[in-house]
Amino acid sequence: MFCAKCGKELPDGATFCPSCGAAVQTGTGDAHTSGIDALTRDHNAQEYWVERLIALIIDYVIVYVVLGIATAIVAIPALLTGGAAFFGVVFGGFALLWGVIFVFYNAVMEVSSGASIGKKLFKLKVASRRGSNPTFAEAFVRNLSKIYWLLLLLDVIVGLAISHGYQQKYSDHYMGTKVVHA
Ligand SMILES: [Zn+2]
Repeated sequence: MFCAKCGKELPDGATFCPSCGAAVQTGTGDAHTSGIDALTRDHNAQEYWVERLIALIIDYVIVYVVLGIATAIVAIPALLTGGAAFFGVVFGGFALLWGVIFVFYNAVMEVSSGASIGKKLFKLKVASRRGSNPTFAEAFVRNLSKIYWLLLLLDVIVGLAISHGYQQKYSDHYMGTKVVHA
C-alpha cells in the first residue's frame, strides 16, 4: 500500500503515513482517528513514540552533561571562597537556566538542520506546514514546553487527544509543525 498524498510505501497496519503524516484511507470510514486511538492499536505509532522518547532522553543527556560541567566550572570560585554550601547555591542558581537553554538548543538545531541530535539518530525531522525546516518562531513555540517535563507531558497528551494523527504535540498542532521520518 502507498500513501495517497506523498506516494511513499506504507508499513502494514499504518493509520498515518510515517513520512508525511497523512491519514491512511482504509475504506472503513475510519479517517478521524485521534493520536490516542492510533497509539492503542497501530504499532507504527507505538514505535514512533518509543523513538521520540529515547531521542528526548539522548538530547537531555547531551545537553545536561555539558551544562552540568560548564555550571560546575563557573561555580568553582564559590567553592573556594564560601565552601560547599555556597557552591550549591551558585550551582542551583545557574541550573535554573538549563530548561531555557534546552529549549534554545532544540529550536536552533531544528531551524538549522531539521532536528536535534537525538531525533537525527532515529532519522526523525521536524517539518513545517510548507514541508521545509521550521522557522525560528515555529521551532521556538513547539519546543517551549521542554522547559519543564510536566508541561511537555501535557503538551504531548493534549496534542494526541485533539490532533488528527499521532505526530503532533499541542504546540505542533498550534504551529502547524509535525515530526516525521526523514
Ligand atoms: Zn505520505
